[in-house]
Formats: sequence, structure tokens, C-alpha cells
Amino acid sequence: MVNSKFLKVNCPSCENESVLFSNSATTVSCELCGSTLATSAGGRARVVAKVVEELE
Ligand SMILES: [Zn+2]
Repeated sequence: MVNSKFLKVNCPSCENESVLFSNSATTVSCELCGSTLATSAGGRARVVAKVVEELE
């Protein structure tokens, strides 16, 4: 396995919980309110939202 993982995050705006991939190459938005949760930075996700838990 490469060092990628799933991250459980809390939306900073509406506190909806989402799971996103740490190597996501696209911008990830909250399903409920559309706030940006993570942006792509050089093939890795730069997580904007608060990380609640790291999942293997
Ligand atoms: Zn939200």
C-alpha cells in the first residue's frame, strides 16, 4: 500500500461528516453546504476541514 489513507473530516461550516481520500486529485466539497473540504495540491489533498479521524 502507498501511504494514502481515508480521512474522516468535519465540515467547518455545517459540521457534516465526510470521508475523503488523502490522495484525492480533485477539490472535495461538502455534500450538504458545498463548502470546500480539501483542495488538490501536487497530487495530494490539502485538507481544509477539520480531520476527525484517520482511517487505514
Ligand atoms: Zn458543510
